[in-house]
Amino acid sequence: MPELVFFSGTMDCGKSTLALQIEHNRSARGLVGMIFTRNDRAGEGKLSSRLGLVTDAVEVGDGTDLYAYLVDHLSRGRRADYVIADEAQFLAPEQIDQLARVVDDLELDVYAFGITTDFRSKLFPGSQRLVELADRVEVLQVEALCWCGARATHNARTVGGVMVVEGAQVVVGDVTDSADEVGYEVLCRRHHRRRMTAATARAAALAPDVLPVTQG
Ligand SMILES: [Zn+2]
Repeated sequence: MPELVFFSGTMDCGKSTLALQIEHNRSARGLVGMIFTRNDRAGEGKLSSRLGLVTDAVEVGDGTDLYAYLVDHLSRGRRADYVIADEAQFLAPEQIDQLARVVDDLELDVYAFGITTDFRSKLFPGSQRLVELADRVEVLQVEALCWCGARATHNARTVGGVMVVEGAQVVVGDVTDSADEVGYEVLCRRHHRRRMTAATARAAALAPDVLPVTQG
C-alpha cells in the first residue's frame, strides 16, 4: 500500500541526510526516484545534506503542479517508482494535496521531509497540510551531541583512539581493531579545542591528575 510519509523535525536534524539515504537505498535496488526540492542550501535543482552529499533534483516553483508533473513524466515513458519531496515546508498546501493524489492515483510512495515549525514556533503551511494528510508522521530527533551533552558542532578524527588534528583531509574510517584505526566523533567546540573526546574524558575522570592541560 503506497504511503505519504512526513519526516518532520527541527533544523539540522538530519532530514536531508535521511532523504539521500532513502534515495541511495532505493537506487541500489534499481528503483528510480523523482526528487523534488525547494530552496536547497546547495542551490536550485539540488538536494544536499550538511554531510556534503548532493544529488540532482527538480526545483519546485510557486505554480508547479506536482501531480501533473509526474503524470507528464510517466506519459513520456520515463520512470518514477517513488517520490521524495525535500524542504517540504516550503511547498504550498495545494502542492501537498497534489502529493497525496500521487500516492492515491499513481500508487507511488511519497516521502516528504520538512521543518515542522518556523522561528515563531508556528507551523509552516506546507507542514500543516502534511500533518493533516500524511498516512504517517515520523518525528526526527537526530541531534548531534557532544559527550558532555552540548550541541556537537565539530568533527574530531581519532587514530587508535587518540584525537589528531593533522593528516590527510579525507580518510575513511575503517572497522579494524588495529592501533591505527581511524574513527570520527562529533564534539562541541569547547571539547574540540581541548581535544577531549569521550574516551579522553572517561580516562580523565578515572585519573584526574592526568587531565590534559591543553585548554588555552
Ligand atoms: Zn562537549
